[in-house]
Amino acid sequence: MRAFTLIRARSPAQAVQALAEHPEARLMAGGTTLFDLMKLGVERPRTVVDINGIGELAGFDTAGRHELVFGSLARMSDVASDKRLQSDYPALAESLSLAASQQLRNMASLSGNVLQRTRCAYFRGGAPFACNKREPGSGCAAQEGLDRGHALLGASDHCKATYPGDFGVALVAFDAVLDVLGPGGMRSIGFEQLHRLPGERPDLETTLAPGEIIARIRVPATPLGRASVYRKIRDRESYAFALASSAVALKLDRGKVAEARIALGGVATRPWRARGAEQGLIGRAVTPETALAAGFAAFMDAQPGRHNAFRIDLGARTVADALLIAAERSQA
Ligand code: SF4
Repeated sequence: MRAFTLIRARSPAQAVQALAEHPEARLMAGGTTLFDLMKLGVERPRTVVDINGIGELAGFDTAGRHELVFGSLARMSDVASDKRLQSDYPALAESLSLAASQQLRNMASLSGNVLQRTRCAYFRGGAPFACNKREPGSGCAAQEGLDRGHALLGASDHCKATYPGDFGVALVAFDAVLDVLGPGGMRSIGFEQLHRLPGERPDLETTLAPGEIIARIRVPATPLGRASVYRKIRDRESYAFALASSAVALKLDRGKVAEARIALGGVATRPWRARGAEQGLIGRAVTPETALAAGFAAFMDAQPGRHNAFRIDLGARTVADALLIAAERSQA
């Protein structure tokens, strides 16, 4: 690891100021992704701004009548173990508790989690591999390489890296909003607008402007929360990234779907909302057949590569499982 200058910010304003003075700086919250990439030599910041001392961003409130509010520095494990979240929004709690390991969840912040970078081995592998995300214009080794874990949805000729997170997938299903603070003050953006498609510039991963930090994540309160689930399928049962995952929430009226939310994880270049599949369920009962049809509808635009086509079937069945569990929970 190379030497770097550490700046400790004690307030959001100090963090924004530090970023304005050091535009190349990296923010550090839990550090679970940043230090990992620094040790690999993928991230080589000369300045790191430590925001762990900003207490006002560390709390969260799941009791609000109109919205749930999560400070950007709330720790994953604290939020995952919140009893109200577990009962009223199980998909949100499950997406956190199924991520990483307990030790990592104890350290990792919510904002760091939603901004974590891809696990593409060519990206993390460094110089021997062409990677447009790491080195713009250098190419993409994954296009002709091993793409078993790469994206089926949202990819481009320039990058097919999968978005690795779980919580972000649940946030997309619940129409979450971000409050971000920057040199121009505070602004709000829909969480679904945070992550960019790779297009021709996979190195540009988010719509955050230079110098902006995430202050809060807000989730509109909804009765759909209780009939929600986060289903995650992986190579091993813990401490692994999703081969396919799905966050689902349902509202049933006399046994028929009145409203559905379906989001996909582990299969796309960003947290992916499957609105066509949602619409196809309206007015129908959730049965193994309709659930599986919705699952395949969610993958209608999938573009498989050389080694990842099996995850279309896996992903569709993951959505179907999630729908059946959510329908069961709606009866509770
Ligand atoms: Fe880099 Fe994206 Fe290609 Fe992976 S898929 S090598 S991250 S450009």
